[in-house]
Amino acid sequence: MPLRFYSTLTQTVEQFAPLEGNTVRMYTCGPTVWNYVHIGNLRTFTFQDILRRWLRYRGYQLDHVMNITDVDDRIIREAKAAHKTLDEYTAVYTQAFLDDAAAMRLERPERLVRATEHIQAMARLIAGLSEKGCTYQSEGSIYFRISAFPGYGKLSHMDFSGIRAGARVDTDRYDKADARDFALWKAPKEGEPFWETEIGAGRPGWHIECSAMAMQYLGETLDIHAGGIDLTFPHHENEIAQSEALTGKPFARFWMHSEHLILGDQTMSKSLGNFFTLADLLGQGYQPEAIRYLLASVPYRKKLNFTFDSLHSAVTAIQRLRNYKLRLETEKFPEGLNEKLLERTWQASREFEESLDDDLNTAEALAAVFEFVRETNSAMDAGEFRAGNVRPALDLLARFDAIFDVLGPSAKAASISESEIEALVAERNQARRARDFARADQMRSQLLERGIILEDTKEGVRWKRK
Ligand code: AMP
Ligand code: ZN
Repeated sequence: MPLRFYSTLTQTVEQFAPLEGNTVRMYTCGPTVWNYVHIGNLRTFTFQDILRRWLRYRGYQLDHVMNITDVDDRIIREAKAAHKTLDEYTAVYTQAFLDDAAAMRLERPERLVRATEHIQAMARLIAGLSEKGCTYQSEGSIYFRISAFPGYGKLSHMDFSGIRAGARVDTDRYDKADARDFALWKAPKEGEPFWETEIGAGRPGWHIECSAMAMQYLGETLDIHAGGIDLTFPHHENEIAQSEALTGKPFARFWMHSEHLILGDQTMSKSLGNFFTLADLLGQGYQPEAIRYLLASVPYRKKLNFTFDSLHSAVTAIQRLRNYKLRLETEKFPEGLNEKLLERTWQASREFEESLDDDLNTAEALAAVFEFVRETNSAMDAGEFRAGNVRPALDLLARFDAIFDVLGPSAKAASISESEIEALVAERNQARRARDFARADQMRSQLLERGIILEDTKEGVRWKRK
């Protein structure tokens, strides 16, 4: 079966291939840098990372643009309250986002672009929309007339045709019930930043930012546009209206939206105050790859209920895989090749690939790997696993890790010093002499988690870095 994705636009799972050549042109809405991101936001960015990696695994190249929204209503409000310029204020959160993304092993998009560096392109787009009669001015602001775009509502699958003409909404974020003509360009206000442009002085609304940056780098029709589910309306609906009203072409072929990370029955959000940042969880001793694993393990179109139990399960799952890999790397297996197990390895590989081809079904992809690990561990115990089966099994793990990327030790763990290792090894020897084997095993796992492999030899314990 070919690669397929669900598109919010058609509400169906469709076969995916890029429009032109071998390169996927993809735009994802990045963070609004008014504050630190929380692990809900990171769920969406992790989904996009899995999507990137899977597209590449399937032989495509990527031209992926992610924006940083560094001007919007909230940022202006918060920067003002903090007595900082926009740049001073957003620099801190932009860097924090980049650090979190790196810790979470999120690949850097081919282009990471800032809204404030594209203001003139936004103004140009608005001028184009005005020439087409899709806008009107009121008190120095420019609004998009949604009745000028007959397709309005096609992404969120709502019928907005009965909406009162001329009713406007000035904020960037609002509910479907408040669907109105929205602000493309906002008049300068006392104490707010503004830019001089061909359409006059002012600042952009949030929605026009993404249309302008996406089309500038990726052309008028993108292959994929993605974001969290809450962006469907109004943000992406408005992006479609602006872009398609201007070009007359479909703005994006696939619209992919990830469901929210929730706590209990509430979505995780800054404004509700029910959130964890990455730093919160790292401060509690969790490794970033455990969080990455948890966020990636639930298929992106399902809600993910965050619990500490599930985070512990993620820690255990990674440990199991690392132990398995270590076993492959260090145990001496009988010579030869077990053909049946080789066939079993290929089957697991096929199941892994078929699951991800099926709209990124990460849960099934993981199940395929874990079932294989369970069966081959038993085969090792029974002496059926042969030296010739090691390479193919390691190859399967490498395929898995090209997407999930959780097996390598974290950068922090890798920075463990030699004297620290020696001290821990001595402590473990002590535990063994005291016949506290549970403690000794636990310490071996902890060291492994930090990238240190212990080998018990006749001459004593040797260690090496992975
Ligand atoms: P924002 O910085 O608010 O624009 O959000 C950045 C991204 O995180 C957007 O794609 C949102 O849709 C997404 N997002 C916000 N809250 C959650 C959540 N609780 N779970 C998953 N994604 C979220
Ligand atoms: Zn956007």
